[in-house]
Amino acid sequence: MAADSLLAAEALGGNRYALARLISLIEDDGTDARAALATLYPHTGQAHIVGVTGAPGTGKSTLVNELAKALRAQDTTVGVVAVDPSSPFTGGALLGDRVRMRDLAGDPGVFIRSMASRGSLGGLARATNDVVKVLDAVGFAVVLVETVGAGQAEVDIARTAHTTVVIEAPGLGDEVQALKAGLMEIADVLVVNKADRPGAAQTARALEMVINRNVPDARGGVGEDAWRPPILQTIALDGTGVPEVLAAVGAHRDHLRASGLWASRERARVETELRNVLQQEMLGRLLARVGEGQVATWVDRIAAREVDVYTVVQTILGEEGSDAD
Ligand code: GDP
Repeated sequence: MAADSLLAAEALGGNRYALARLISLIEDDGTDARAALATLYPHTGQAHIVGVTGAPGTGKSTLVNELAKALRAQDTTVGVVAVDPSSPFTGGALLGDRVRMRDLAGDPGVFIRSMASRGSLGGLARATNDVVKVLDAVGFAVVLVETVGAGQAEVDIARTAHTTVVIEAPGLGDEVQALKAGLMEIADVLVVNKADRPGAAQTARALEMVINRNVPDARGGVGEDAWRPPILQTIALDGTGVPEVLAAVGAHRDHLRASGLWASRERARVETELRNVLQQEMLGRLLARVGEGQVATWVDRIAAREVDVYTVVQTILGEEGSDAD
């Protein structure tokens, strides 16, 4: 057996050291990682993938920590992938992880990993997706994916979850930040955290108004099948409201299963992934063939108005009838 497949087999057998090494391998990408993922893939498809997103400072990390603790109290195993595109660090050694670890350390039913940007956001999305697959394959029942809801890439990461929890908090300046970040459309459960602060009820009312506008064309189906995102208030600092969030997440999973949306979302996820990977691979191969030096030359010539971008693309693709040369 090749080393990478052995690592995958060991991780499947419950070896945490192998699991950690496997995840590092996957973050680095490359052929070894792909072989391991091929071994793991038939074991995926069991976990409930839950995205947790919101603006910085809303209390995501604190809430995710509480959700993980509450899941463990129900004897549910949980993997946590914390994605921070702004952080240059990776490998599960962030300060935030150490804080989390204090509560959850030593529990084999929990695995926490931080992911940071490695060049491109697209690369981060791919790596996150693959790490989620690993945690799913080795048997974590719930995988929480925490992302900073700041831009399209983060929204895309959140979109790969079965259930997306969007977090708001009062007093962060803007009335409804989720609206600004385009997160309302992907929210299955809305949480107003920091309910101990003034303005929480007002924020909840503002969210309610947006929901009333969006439903029944929200993403949970139409008519009687429509899922209406509940709006819940929490105090992540002391765990208030956390069981209700877990109950809503569970209810959403049941709704997806009962309505058939689980299968259609899975299919949509796979299709998006296939198209993304195909796009990245083809572009990568093409650029490798053309060479960065040649690309730079084309850029110079386009910028100098000697040739236009479509003509260059046709030339690169080797199409006939091009006179860019
Ligand atoms: P993140 O940036 O969204 O991950 O937010 P954090 O979890 O790091 O929390 C940001 C700050 O808000 C920290 O100082 C937390 O202690 C604090 N915080 C989190 N939840 C609550 C809450 O329910 N009430 C109050 N008052 N503070 C909170």
